[in-house]
Amino acid sequence: MSGKNCKCGGRLVSIDLKIGEASRRLSSCSKCDRRFWEAEGTPAKLGEVLEEISVVAEQNRRR
Ligand SMILES: [Zn+2]
Repeated sequence: MSGKNCKCGGRLVSIDLKIGEASRRLSSCSKCDRRFWEAEGTPAKLGEVLEEISVVAEQNRRR
């Protein structure tokens, strides 16, 4: 777990998700409930991550 802190000073809790070959990280603040995604270290939008999840789920269904 990374020791990063939120802007509010609260502790960030990160969860790593595997989406196919890619890895995405969801961080959430335990204090102010802020949530954000990262794609290999760069910020990602929730909509983009959900899109990737649905694409991979579709591929798995066809296998
Ligand atoms: Zn916070």
